[in-house]
Amino acid sequence: MTKVAFFTDIAHLHNALALFPLQGFAGKKVPVKLHMGEKKNPYFVKPELVKCVVDELKKVQAEPFLFDTTVAYHGSRYTKSDYLNTAKLHGFTMKNVGCEVVIDDSGVSTAVEGRTFEVADHLKNSSHIFALSHVKGHMQSGMGGAIKNFGMGGVTKETKIKIHHGSRPVYQKDSCTFCGVCAEVCPFDAISVEKNKWTYDKGECFGCGVCVENCTTNALRNRDADMQFLLACSAKACVQGKNVLYLNELKRIAKGCDCDPNAGPIICPDVGYLVSDDPVAIDKASLDLINDVKENVFLKINKVDPLKQIKYGEEIGLGSSSYQLIMV
Ligand code: SF4
Ligand code: SF4
Repeated sequence: MTKVAFFTDIAHLHNALALFPLQGFAGKKVPVKLHMGEKKNPYFVKPELVKCVVDELKKVQAEPFLFDTTVAYHGSRYTKSDYLNTAKLHGFTMKNVGCEVVIDDSGVSTAVEGRTFEVADHLKNSSHIFALSHVKGHMQSGMGGAIKNFGMGGVTKETKIKIHHGSRPVYQKDSCTFCGVCAEVCPFDAISVEKNKWTYDKGECFGCGVCVENCTTNALRNRDADMQFLLACSAKACVQGKNVLYLNELKRIAKGCDCDPNAGPIICPDVGYLVSDDPVAIDKASLDLINDVKENVFLKINKVDPLKQIKYGEEIGLGSSSYQLIMV
């Protein structure tokens, strides 16, 4: 059974990491994969926590650097220079965290489950990776944790777009009852339903797949596959064959993602931190601990079941959902 260490005070990070083979990171250049926040989002992982991680990696003679990829939409992280400016604005500087920040905008095509995903160059070229994931809600995957950190955050713009495109709806009129649920749940008003007419505006569709998830008559299906399946595949493309340690921060748990300047309210009290060497186990433990405090909060609020990414991850061999929680 996979070990997942749980602690509530960051002072215990060292003891939590001691349960895992951190010594193997010695002498390696190690990307610390994290999301450094979209402008105006207040919830992203803070430099103080990142500094603790960087210090632990340096203690074992690793050479860490903060790492992320550019995004597919025109926000404050669209280009490398945009992202570097935003990272600086959010306090991710050499002075504050003790290492440099690297942003990738290109990647290497990698096959998983009959599809290809462009894994960011610095991930592809690293044997050892540290994943620092802020766990929060997400309108497209219910929850964002370690799987999402890589599944969307570890790949190029082109692959991000491909994942969104693959989960767009395909409509089957014969099965539609014109109930209007898809229009109600669509976060971007891309669907309208009036009497016996279903209308879809592709230009407004962000490919979140929420409409497909909520159609009970199978009148909608994904163009390629469920977004959570594609995220699990993409995450596997990023981490397969690598030595990866994962730290999930379960604090400032908002309705929406760190990508969103309007991520909504905090929907669950702070829980703490988890460390593991398995992305599926750490996300399952994160979800279980959050559900213990606020039952099914992500499903209720975002209307997408986050357990799917965990199940898909297990099915494709990304990791195991069976874990042993160790209090540190
Ligand atoms: S949710 Fe499904 S059945 Fe209802 S209107 Fe939309 S496509 Fe039709
Ligand atoms: S995939 Fe998302 S954005 Fe597109 S129509 Fe469906 S609910 Fe709306």
